[in-house]
Amino acid sequence: MASKELILSVEDLTVSFDGFKAVDGLNFYLDKDELRVVIGPNGAGKTTVLDLICGKTKATNGRIRFKDKELTKLSEHQIVREGVGRKFQTPSIYENLSVFQNLEVSFPKGRSVFGSIAFKRSELVTERVRAVAEEVLLTDVPDLEAGLLSHGQKQWLEIGMLLMQDPELLMLDEPIAGMSVRERELTAQLLQRICKGRSMIVIEHDMDFVKKIADKVTVLHQGKVIAEGSMDKVQADEKVIDVYLGH
Ligand code: ADP
Ligand code: MG
Repeated sequence: MASKELILSVEDLTVSFDGFKAVDGLNFYLDKDELRVVIGPNGAGKTTVLDLICGKTKATNGRIRFKDKELTKLSEHQIVREGVGRKFQTPSIYENLSVFQNLEVSFPKGRSVFGSIAFKRSELVTERVRAVAEEVLLTDVPDLEAGLLSHGQKQWLEIGMLLMQDPELLMLDEPIAGMSVRERELTAQLLQRICKGRSMIVIEHDMDFVKKIADKVTVLHQGKVIAEGSMDKVQADEKVIDVYLGH
């Protein structure tokens, strides 16, 4: 088996909001091509960790190294260009544009909506849109206005918009919240497809779903890692049962 290569190392990461440490001396290491799931009770600091990695929130202390770059020194914009994509809890898509157009404007060269109107559709962009639409199960509805998609399809579209940038690290915050059972199953398969050749961090609460997709699980509590390892290992951990799974 090939030896593992680190893509992300987070060390001693801390952020205080008025003296309250939402993330407290966190250490976290992610390998290339790994799909990690982060779980933990509400308020554990999961979303804040993603905010720190993508540069939305600035760290009070600590380091975030992605490949050979120190992300704490970069802007949100630069971090995207380094190959980090992040999906928030609520989908942010252009409701009045079609599925195709939403994907098209997400292609790195035609990022703004206005810019894209004058943007000549190259074969390359169209090819890429088609490939991504297939990956996120939206091949049948390219011309549908995005606002008319189901909730689950909107989530998939936003994942597709991130895939247009072909990020090396993709982070998803509770991607299956509000989805039907069927949509959850399809999303598990979807994530397993798109994680090929990239690293992913997924925050999720649904344990059946976590079991299906996770290589490894990290459990956060009060801004710290309290357990990490295989799903079986963390599920059997006393501390994890105590603060999270037991409730
Ligand atoms: P989780 O995603 O695990 O539910 P969060 O990361 O959203 O938790 O929040 C962790 C803690 O940090 C919560 O107590 C939350 O209220 C607090 N928090 C998050 N962002 C801010 C902020 N910008 N200002 C103040 N407090 C915040
Ligand atoms: Mg959260």
